[in-house]
Amino acid sequence: MTADNAKATTSRRMPMPTPETQHFWDGTLEGELRLQRCDDCAHTYFPPRPFCPKCASRSVQIAVASGRATLHACVINHRPGPGFDEPHSIAVVELEEGPRMMSNIVDCEQTHDALPLDMPLEVTFEQLSDTIALPLFKPATSTEVAS
Ligand SMILES: [Zn+2]
Repeated sequence: MTADNAKATTSRRMPMPTPETQHFWDGTLEGELRLQRCDDCAHTYFPPRPFCPKCASRSVQIAVASGRATLHACVINHRPGPGFDEPHSIAVVELEEGPRMMSNIVDCEQTHDALPLDMPLEVTFEQLSDTIALPLFKPATSTEVAS
């Protein structure tokens, strides 16, 4: 366990909310991962869009995710990039509700040994600015109270 990957994300490129994704970014600021769910076919999806990707219904509503996920795919990027001085993970996580999203795994060593596929994860949020908090994932700890 190292403490020095805490700074890894501080100067990365800032996401730009759009009208379609504003509810998602409002959610991350409040510590919620907001997905959308279709009223007609019950499909839960991400990323945000104003109609269901499965049945094209516009009768969709926001559904707050549990924050639990598993690691679906992961690469370790060893090349420095904006905000990244050290090797860091670029992961696809599968949320408990089904959708997958790109993220980074934090609070653990950035090696494939420390990041086995299907490992249980939980969401954590990193505040990048007054208006943006980025959802990241860390190894799940069943005893830890969400902070
Ligand atoms: Zn649908």
